[in-house]
Amino acid sequence: MNYEIDSILNRAPCGFLSFTDDSKILMINITLLEMLGYQIDELHGKKIELILPIGSRIFYQTHFSPLLKLHNKAEDIYFALQTKQGKDIPMLINAVRQRHEETFVSNCILIPISQRIHYENEILKAKKVAETAILAQKQAELELRKLYEELRCVTQKLEKLVNIDGLTHIANRRCFDDRLEQEWLRLCREKQPISLLLFDVDYFKRYNDAYGHQLGDECLVKLAQAAQVAVSRSTDLVARYGGEEFVIILPNTDLEGAIAVAERLHKSVQSLGIAHQTSDVSSVVTISLGLAALVPSLEKSPKDLINQADQALYRAKQKGRNQTAIAM
Ligand code: GH3
Ligand code: MG
Ligand code: MG
Repeated sequence: MNYEIDSILNRAPCGFLSFTDDSKILMINITLLEMLGYQIDELHGKKIELILPIGSRIFYQTHFSPLLKLHNKAEDIYFALQTKQGKDIPMLINAVRQRHEETFVSNCILIPISQRIHYENEILKAKKVAETAILAQKQAELELRKLYEELRCVTQKLEKLVNIDGLTHIANRRCFDDRLEQEWLRLCREKQPISLLLFDVDYFKRYNDAYGHQLGDECLVKLAQAAQVAVSRSTDLVARYGGEEFVIILPNTDLEGAIAVAERLHKSVQSLGIAHQTSDVSSVVTISLGLAALVPSLEKSPKDLINQADQALYRAKQKGRNQTAIAM
């Protein structure tokens, strides 16, 4: 046996024992020697029965040794060894029998039962620690998932806030710009029409002057709601363009369809019946509306559509307000 293996075997936390077929001890490691309280020269070459109590001796001769000779191995066999002082140590033994030169040698690993129980307890403890760690990890994962969910909700709310007008609670200019861009590209591909309605409150400065800014704000909220009522498709978008100007995107809608929406919108505003004594065109709040309709193409941009609607709105004002003008 070389030096490294020798020292490993000698100091291993279990006993090693080799004996011949006629029961002579060939090798015994220091761990087992110390367990049994012998010096090496007291056991080397001696019969194995020397370290067996009487019960084990019989068991060895009638069962263990024949079993080993028959199968060349014996696994997890329980029997006791005896110390020099005559004390029994219950052991768990695993043995392998091999040919060695002219004879056969059996090599055994011996673990005291008390040590085995100690190991089993350690394994149980380690299992418990692992279980606790797994539980903690699951808990942490759950918490993390909850946090992600909360973050998602907050992000959604923020996105909404970013896209919504604070006063009227309809889409704001930013949302309008994004949507128009998206619809423009989509309808460009599909070669389908898009219409834009840009409308502005008539004589609104006078309204504020007559009724106060607070009522002016309330009027804008009602107008936004009336515009929402006037559109019918889920893809239509009503947005506050700025100040007392609003805009409506009507995707997949041609001129005829847009004119119908514009008429509905005038009626809707009319039926609000918001008194406006200082208006030159009506006794109630009215709007002027510029309408533009086209099929988007790569040569044009959303800005062209807005400009057309804006120019039409200007003409609606010029022609006397409370009416729709169509872009030429
Ligand atoms: P026109 O018929 O030519 O559109 O006349 P107008 O008075 O409506 O137009 P003008 O551009 O001279 O005035 C717009 C007014 O709208 C002035 C401004 O105080 C008012 N306004 C813009 N935004 C708001 C708002 O958020 N709240 C209120 N109360 N008034 C607003
Ligand atoms: Mg204006
Ligand atoms: Mg105005």
